[in-house]
Amino acid sequence: AIEVVEDRPEDLEHRAPIVTVMGHVDHGKTSLLDYIRKTNVIAGESGGITQHIGAYGVRLDNGQRIAFLDTPGHEAFTAMRARGAQVTDIVIIVIAADDDIMPQTKEAISHAQAAGVPLIFAINKVDKPTANPEKIKEKLAGMNLLVEDWGGKYQSHDISAKTGLGVKELLEKVLLEAEILDLKANPNKPAVGTVVEAFLDKGRGYVSTVLVQAGTLRIGDYVLAGKHHGKVKAMHDERGHNIKEAGPSTPISILGLDGAPTAGDKFSVFEDEREAKQIAVKRTQLLREQSVRTQKH
Ligand code: GDP
Repeated sequence: AIEVVEDRPEDLEHRAPIVTVMGHVDHGKTSLLDYIRKTNVIAGESGGITQHIGAYGVRLDNGQRIAFLDTPGHEAFTAMRARGAQVTDIVIIVIAADDDIMPQTKEAISHAQAAGVPLIFAINKVDKPTANPEKIKEKLAGMNLLVEDWGGKYQSHDISAKTGLGVKELLEKVLLEAEILDLKANPNKPAVGTVVEAFLDKGRGYVSTVLVQAGTLRIGDYVLAGKHHGKVKAMHDERGHNIKEAGPSTPISILGLDGAPTAGDKFSVFEDEREAKQIAVKRTQLLREQSVRTQKH
């Protein structure tokens, strides 16, 4: 049986915030995520090729970390939430200052609000001569979303994902919000978390990006993720570096599962390999029975 052991308060340690970027198409989500990844990936390391693994971590100059789910569009967020996976601590809503509050922006705002996740507005493209960030803030106010410089409670920052203007300050606001949330997890137990994405790589087999939410994941750990299982053979970050262990709020891609779990699947580490296999078999059976039932109806 799966033992649910409550963490004692003294076991809990601060963890980095997990952030999702949402907004209307072409408003600059990808550009912002790319800019942050390229400039901020672990202070001290310059440039270099990064792989898309669906999530990445950054360390700011002051040593603080932020984990980004690098899945632009709302699909991943919505899919995960539909499956009961709540992984995001903070949502950044990107709005192009030369445009308007568009339908997808409104949708993103209501998704985040429904999930009870705090919002931070990134008013983007302020480098453009046609940009009018104040107009955007006025529109937000009209939606009952009053930003700070309008005397409201919502943090917002004018940025250019193209030139990088304001991005550092935006990230500082993310950390401020995280401080208020007082995010904690117990790093000293077998890892649990959520699958972000998974695919079959011709050369390496199944590659799954997971987000460790509590505990610490190590090479050699026996993992059960959805209906798939296996021993972690290798772990890599978005730079392709070999990683030996990953603590709370760390996104990591792992090799060794016997299939590709679905985004939003929970994963956990089992000390007993046989037990993990039994549960995986049971889940596969259940899913098969379910699909037979739905086909009959
Ligand atoms: P997404 O669909 O939200 O991911 O938007 P993209 O990041 O793909 O950006 C859409 C277009 O806007 C691209 O051509 C970007 O180069 C451009 N863009 C994004 N951010 C900025 C910005 O801050 N300033 C300017 N001038 N262009 C931007």
